[in-house]
Amino acid sequence: LGADDLTAQDHARVTDPRRLRHLREVHRANVGDEMTLGVEGGLIGRGRLERLDADSAEFSLTLDRQPPAPLDVHLLLALPRPRMLARSLEHVTALGVKQITLLHTRRVEKSYWQSPELKEDKIRQHLVLGLEQARDTIMPTVTHEKLFKPFVEDRLPALMTPASGTPPRGIIAHPGMPDECPRAVHEPVMLAIGPEGGFVDYEVEKFMAAGFEGVHLGERILRVETAVTALLARLG
Ligand code: SAM
Repeated sequence: LGADDLTAQDHARVTDPRRLRHLREVHRANVGDEMTLGVEGGLIGRGRLERLDADSAEFSLTLDRQPPAPLDVHLLLALPRPRMLARSLEHVTALGVKQITLLHTRRVEKSYWQSPELKEDKIRQHLVLGLEQARDTIMPTVTHEKLFKPFVEDRLPALMTPASGTPPRGIIAHPGMPDECPRAVHEPVMLAIGPEGGFVDYEVEKFMAAGFEGVHLGERILRVETAVTALLARLG
């Protein structure tokens, strides 16, 4: 459960109605119950429910656990349709991504940028769901880039493209394994994922010119959220 207030190092309070509902309806919590509490900012611990009222819950807290290690991936995600954005943000947060740039590309519908799902509090809700699911506590940063550009950073740059013709060499291929089989990486990665219609040739060329290499998960054309989830799970 995510606590929204650390009142002291040994005490946490939950006042968010959605979390309170979760506490009552999913955990069916009673005073005296113990559960893991995540507190944004990198703290996680065991909480004992001391009081449960209509509008708040109070826990005594024992900080006992470091948050899971971050997966050092900067995700360049071509802005997906709003419903898919919500799920993608939740999944990639649960898988440990700490930086996300929502990118405009030719095949991103302009109307997606007007979606209420892009409001800060909505984005935060999806990230929090992912954190709570994974019992992680470090909130990813999310920024927007409304003009297409391949980012160049001091990271392994990988461009996700479904296999077509000759499979691209997997940039994160394990020596001795098939080229297209990604291995667990422990170095920073920049991972670019296209929109529903894919990147246009011009964009792929720009990525390649910036040093990106193709990485693919075979010939199946996967939904954005499936593709990104599958690849991140292999990196973790
Ligand atoms: N027809 C489009 C194409 O060929 O690029 C399909 C786009 S797919 C629905 C959306 C994005 O998910 C792609 O741009 C790519 O980044 C990623 N993706 C989907 N399937 C993939 C696969 N098998 N391997 C790697 N990336 C994949």
